[in-house]
Amino acid sequence: MDFTYPPEAEAFRAEFRSWLDEHLTDEFRGDGIGFSMEMDADRLATMRQWNRLLADARFAAISWPEEYGGRGAGTMEQVVFAEEMHRSDAPGTLNPLGLSNIAPAIIEFGTDDQRATLLPRMLRGDDIWCQGFSEPDAGSDLAGLQCRAVLDDDHFVINGQKTWNTLGHLANWCELLVRTDPDQPKHRGISCLLVDMTLPGVEVRPLVTITGEKEFNEIFFTDVRVPVSSLLGPLHDGWRVAMTTLAYERGTVANLHLSLRAKIRRLIDDAAAVGALEDPVKRQALAALYLEGELLKLVSDRAISGAIHGRAMGPEGSIAKLVWSEAEQHVGEVAGQVLGPDANTGFWGRDRVYMRALTIAGGTTQVNKNILAQRVLGLPRA
Ligand SMILES: Cc1cc2nc3c(=O)[nH]c(=O)nc-3n(C[C@H](O)[C@H](O)[C@H](O)COP(=O)(O)OP(=O)(O)OC[C@H]3O[C@@H](n4cnc5c(N)ncnc54)[C@H](O)[C@@H]3O)c2cc1C
Repeated sequence: MDFTYPPEAEAFRAEFRSWLDEHLTDEFRGDGIGFSMEMDADRLATMRQWNRLLADARFAAISWPEEYGGRGAGTMEQVVFAEEMHRSDAPGTLNPLGLSNIAPAIIEFGTDDQRATLLPRMLRGDDIWCQGFSEPDAGSDLAGLQCRAVLDDDHFVINGQKTWNTLGHLANWCELLVRTDPDQPKHRGISCLLVDMTLPGVEVRPLVTITGEKEFNEIFFTDVRVPVSSLLGPLHDGWRVAMTTLAYERGTVANLHLSLRAKIRRLIDDAAAVGALEDPVKRQALAALYLEGELLKLVSDRAISGAIHGRAMGPEGSIAKLVWSEAEQHVGEVAGQVLGPDANTGFWGRDRVYMRALTIAGGTTQVNKNILAQRVLGLPRA
């Protein structure tokens, strides 16, 4: 592990910090569109305004190439960007999934027309995107997906169901995986379509989670007709497009320690406020938790160091996802232990139940452990 912040990254920090000082007013500060919140129309409009400010200054997606409105920013600038956003309590854009996961697939596999029409609107938050991958019987085993699209002249006709679609209730575009050739082995015969969700036959049904929020959704497709120009990448080779999307999803893990460590800090402060630090057992639990946060930072730093030295993202992505999602749940458990009944309501009450989702979203803990066992430790398949 070897990196320091080079002068270019510090120059970028100074530029971005002064831009934030000028533009980030209190009306914008606070929760943005998350993976975990409902958003009322007023807050959505404010977030769209904020998104446009970021886009106009080319801060909405700094890693994108300049020709698409990004800055072609390197790893350290991206790290600095995340640190500054976090430090200043700035909300993100309206397209957390679109900008970091879906856009790279459009840039790599899209036609000129798809790139020209879809990317600028995504960047400014004019469109909101969701990912339509999982189905009731295809989650970890994504290649088993059954949602069908049949070619009919110059259209695909889509029938089937997707589920767990984050932001589906706000989205008007979906990166959708469909089966276009059922006679091929399951990883083949899949295609990726970019689907306008306002088309007739698309029905979104929000799912209410244990926190009481409508966070993600089921999406039903009944005879939905999309033009063949909606195809992203080669016909029947959507698996490759999906893997590009998921690779970027896993590549965003390097900054997860920022929010985790801030939350651990908050818990220590809350514990101190109720006198819990006097109790050696509670103190021990908090100390162990603190170390989990620091461990995640070291894993992240290793990934960053690797990226700077030209190493492809290796096991760090899977390790960071594992450490982060389990540590987030330990935070909730320790909150219960040190705060008692106070941890059942308010911030901690919500956090403790919501965090159960994190060992499932973006690849479950068990599947992650399989990946690490086989690809890192070289163990045989179970
Ligand atoms: C908060 C959240 C947001 C999400 N957002 C989206 C989204 O925007 N778009 C989208 O398409 N999907 C989304 N998902 C779905 C997510 O990708 C799936 O839930 C996940 O891939 C697991 O699939 P599953 O729910 O079908 O569980 P299953 O795959 O049925 O797994 C059930 C259990 O079996 C275990 N298991 C499965 N296979 C193995 C194996 N080979 N070895 C050992 N254990 C195994 C799993 O670990 C799990 O404990 C989201 C999920 C969550 C929780």
